[in-house]
Amino acid sequence: RAKENGKSQYCFFEIEMDAAIKTRRALESDLREALARDALEMAYQPQVNRHGVMTGVEALVRWRHPLRGDVSPAFFVPIAEECGLIVELGMFTLRRAFEDSRRWTGLKIAINVSANQLRLADFVLRLGELVEEYGVDPRQFELEITEGILLGDDPSTHDTLRRLRQMGFSLALDDFGTGYSSLSYLQRYPISKIKIDRSFIANLGVDLESEAVVGAIVKLARALKLAVIAEGVETTDQRERLAAAGCSEIQGYLFSRPVTADQIEQLMSADSLSPAA
Ligand code: C2E
Ligand code: MG
Ligand code: MG
Ligand code: MG
Repeated sequence: RAKENGKSQYCFFEIEMDAAIKTRRALESDLREALARDALEMAYQPQVNRHGVMTGVEALVRWRHPLRGDVSPAFFVPIAEECGLIVELGMFTLRRAFEDSRRWTGLKIAINVSANQLRLADFVLRLGELVEEYGVDPRQFELEITEGILLGDDPSTHDTLRRLRQMGFSLALDDFGTGYSSLSYLQRYPISKIKIDRSFIANLGVDLESEAVVGAIVKLARALKLAVIAEGVETTDQRERLAAAGCSEIQGYLFSRPVTADQIEQLMSADSLSPAA
């Protein structure tokens, strides 16, 4: 009986695996097609300071699948990385963000750059070409990278990041606290900002550990003269706890979900944003 169960379970997993592989293949080819048709979108999420003044936005790619509805970038960016579409996806994101940025003088725009994208041999070159083509000032942009990129202390990564800084881009470390970076990396790389990961924010007021971790990250940032921002801030209570810990720049649903470029333009004409009801 046990054996039978084992066997039927095995078959069940096999069927599931098969379905997962088919779904993945279909998504890959749909994504390839969407990129070829320029059918992805960009959303932008405000970042606000202690006064609720919008100081920047983060560019977040969106894919409205005709049959599956919204597919999360957390799901399709890794697929794009594995099947080689990350080059096109990365170029799409940069082009759109550069294009939209021309309407927003003075507003900082953060753009996510995935590890495999940054490691492409001609990444810096192509980025430079886009800067020329769109006539943008790199100082208006912040590239968000993850701790994983810093792992291994690779000389060519050092070189890439240095060149990006020389061009005028600033660098932010995304999802900070979830990776494996040693603190010494922070000093060795030309990073100017830390983004505290959402998971710690979600637990503020829930457990004491998160409070301690957030406090420690803020102190670390200060000691290293880095700016710090919290992502995924959803409640006034979280905002207040962050401010008490010394982190007053925030991004999250409390102020705004990611919105269209047009909506950002409207928000820019307001002096400050208020927490969403
Ligand atoms: P991320 O860079 O850490 O982006 C923050 C994510 O948190 C976004 O999810 C955003 O919509 C979500 N978020 C913001 N505020 C809140 C909040 O208050 N509560 C909650 N629960 N969530 C919030 P999204 O847009 O699904 O992006 C997921 C990840 O996909 C990003 O994480 C980033 O790593 C990646 N990604 C997004 N756009 C791009 C892109 O254009 N290029 C690359 N390479 N990666 C991207
Ligand atoms: Mg990000
Ligand atoms: Mg993040
Ligand atoms: Mg995140």
